[in-house]
Amino acid sequence: MQPAKAYEDNPKRIMKQPLDVLAFGTHPDDLELCCGGTLILLTSRGYRIGAVDLTRGEQGTRGSEETRAKESAAASQVLKLCLRENLGIPDGHIEKSQENLLRVIRVLRQHRPRLVLAPYWEERHYDHVHASHLVAEAAFYSGLSKIETGQESFRPYRVLYYMGRIGFRPSFVVDISETFEAKMRAIRSYRSQFHGGGDEESGGPQTLISSPLALEVFETLARHYGAMIGARYGEPFLVREALELSDPVAFFREFPDGKLPHLFPSQ
Ligand SMILES: [Zn+2]
Repeated sequence: MQPAKAYEDNPKRIMKQPLDVLAFGTHPDDLELCCGGTLILLTSRGYRIGAVDLTRGEQGTRGSEETRAKESAAASQVLKLCLRENLGIPDGHIEKSQENLLRVIRVLRQHRPRLVLAPYWEERHYDHVHASHLVAEAAFYSGLSKIETGQESFRPYRVLYYMGRIGFRPSFVVDISETFEAKMRAIRSYRSQFHGGGDEESGGPQTLISSPLALEVFETLARHYGAMIGARYGEPFLVREALELSDPVAFFREFPDGKLPHLFPSQ
C-alpha cells in the first residue's frame, strides 16, 4: 500500500501500475461474502486486484474494530490482493457527502482500475445502499477534470454490482467452482462473525450470519447461481448498461466444446 504521506507529498508524480479491478466493500467481510470467489479467481489468473473497505465495521454486533482488522488481514491473505485499504468512514453513517465522494475519487484516481465492483443498490442494510450510491457516483465524478484533487481525472470503464441479500436478475454469473473452497476459507477468517468462532460459547449475541445455518445459506446461494450457468458454484453480477460484445462467436467459443448448453431459468 502506498503510504498516505508520500502520496500527499507528490500526488501527480506517483503513478503506479493501474489495477484491473478495484472492489469496494461496505464492511470488512462484505467482499469475501458477496464476490470473494470471483476475486480469488481473478488474482489466481494474475490480474491486479485491489480492495477498499469503506468502514471498519465498528458497529458490528460481534467482535471489536481491532478483531475485525485482524480478521480482514487474514482473509486478504487468502484473496491474494495487491492492496487492501480502509477509508475509515463511520460505520452506520455512510453519507454521500462531498467529503466522502472525494475520498473515493482520490482512491480511484490513485489506482485507476479498469473495473469497479460495488454493492447492489437494493439492500437490507442501509449502509450497503448508501455505499452503492457513493461508489457509483464517485466513479462518475472521478472523470470530471474540474473536480480538483491534485490528481489526473479518471473514470473506470464499468461499475459491476455484486449481490448482497436482495436478489437481482444477473447480467452475468462468474463460475467460481474452482475457488469456492478458498472463498469459504476467507469467509471463515472472520471468526468472531460466524458460528464456531468462539463468541457463542461466551454468550455473544446472535446475528443473521452467526447462526449455524449462515454458511450453509451462502453455499446454497452459490449453488443456485452456479446452476444458472451449468456450474457447481457461481457469483452473480449486475451491470446497469447493456453489455456489448465485439465478437459473439469468439465470446461463446471460450467455453469448452463439451460444455452442455444450459437451459435453466435465469431468475
Ligand atoms: Zn456489510
